Amino acid sequence: MSLSLEIREQVRQRARRACEFCGVSEVDVGGLLTIDHFHPQSKGGSDDLDNLIYCCVRCNQYKQDYWPTCEADPMLWNPRQGNTSGNFVELEDGRVVGISSCGEFTILRLRLNRAPLVEYRMRRRQQAEQTRLLQRYRDLVALLTQANGQLSDLLLEQQQLLQEQRDLLRFLLEQQE
Ligand SMILES: [Zn+2]
Repeated sequence: MSLSLEIREQVRQRARRACEFCGVSEVDVGGLLTIDHFHPQSKGGSDDLDNLIYCCVRCNQYKQDYWPTCEADPMLWNPRQGNTSGNFVELEDGRVVGISSCGEFTILRLRLNRAPLVEYRMRRRQQAEQTRLLQRYRDLVALLTQANGQLSDLLLEQQQLLQEQRDLLRFLLEQQE
């Protein structure tokens, strides 16, 4: 049975319009993503919201209708059951490594280290770094502006003191005459 528009929209919004497996968003790919049945319909999976994953075309394609058939078969990571921590770690070079057998299997099955995805993560890291540097630059400019203001106040105070000293000196000289 096909999913209603309402359900599709619910799944889409819940995922914040990004692939729940790899993180690329509709904006990144320039279009809607797909809806995947985590437990495939062909293997008895239901249309329950809990079984629906918002998913990019590539992840969906690589996942296909995978479902373990015996105890020894590895399980895919299920985004419905928590975040990636405990299963994957992202490295500085943009690759992800599995830190659990489920994580390792998911990376292999969904090709989560495919070249464009690694590049995407690198770009995202660079953007985050640029944002951080820009914020630091803004903070520094604000500090310098503040210091400049304080310096002006000090100069003004110094000028006033000098003027007072001059007045005093003049007064003393007048007294002596
Ligand atoms: Zn994906």
